[in-house]
Amino acid sequence: MSLKLELKELLEELKRYFECQKILGLDTIALAREKKKEESSEIYKKELKPPVFREKKTRINVEEQLGIFDKPSKKLTLEEIKEEIGDCTRCKLHQGRTNIVFGEGNPKARLVFVGEGPGAEEDKQARPFVGRAGQLLTKIIAAMGLKRSDVYICNVVKCRPPGNRSPEPDEAGTCEQFLFKQLRAINPDVIVCLGSVAAQSVLRTKEKLGNLRGKFHSYGRAKVRVTYHPAALLRNPGYKKPLWDDMQIVMKEL
Ligand code: SF4
Repeated sequence: MSLKLELKELLEELKRYFECQKILGLDTIALAREKKKEESSEIYKKELKPPVFREKKTRINVEEQLGIFDKPSKKLTLEEIKEEIGDCTRCKLHQGRTNIVFGEGNPKARLVFVGEGPGAEEDKQARPFVGRAGQLLTKIIAAMGLKRSDVYICNVVKCRPPGNRSPEPDEAGTCEQFLFKQLRAINPDVIVCLGSVAAQSVLRTKEKLGNLRGKFHSYGRAKVRVTYHPAALLRNPGYKKPLWDDMQIVMKEL
């Protein structure tokens, strides 16, 4: 690649980074305070180093653990999975729902976002991630240079847990079969798990989010990245930067 082209790509990446920072609500950038001349030149030397992402790949072979592909069953289409769910009463979450929130987006998406469950607005509209947290996710997707229709968005449970609580293990355990079928139908390159419920379900683990972030896991042939749920960003803006760092790594995989 020519130097000019590399420089152009670098500038575009920087532009996208600052646009995203703006979208995420960061309007100031902290600069190192100048102390002594020698110290400050050391600071600049350090700051000018390119960021190093220490990628530690952990392979968790979910299919082997689940035995999903031991006896290959018929791969269902998203429409067939929706039909299979039907007017589901398989777990107690059906009691309080208005609508089943199946998921939406590109059925051949290379990138799938998985959340934990629908909230009030999602339950009303029968669409995933359309409330405040969803609007933030839409902005994050736009900052990645994508549209919602380019990716696929769904949740572990398809019915709203009361009071926006997290799904209980029996509810997630009953409903996640449909998520696995959706992932099989879509066959994405990258899955982003938003929050610990999604991560623990997709990766068949009880590990905490903090231990799962910062590395790639695998789900069949797909790479899995774990990050914060956008709702957590609304409560704690300090998560914005680490989430954007995760998304930049995901963008490199697409
Ligand atoms: S959450 Fe899933 S398993 Fe439970 S009732 Fe809704 S669709 Fe059925």
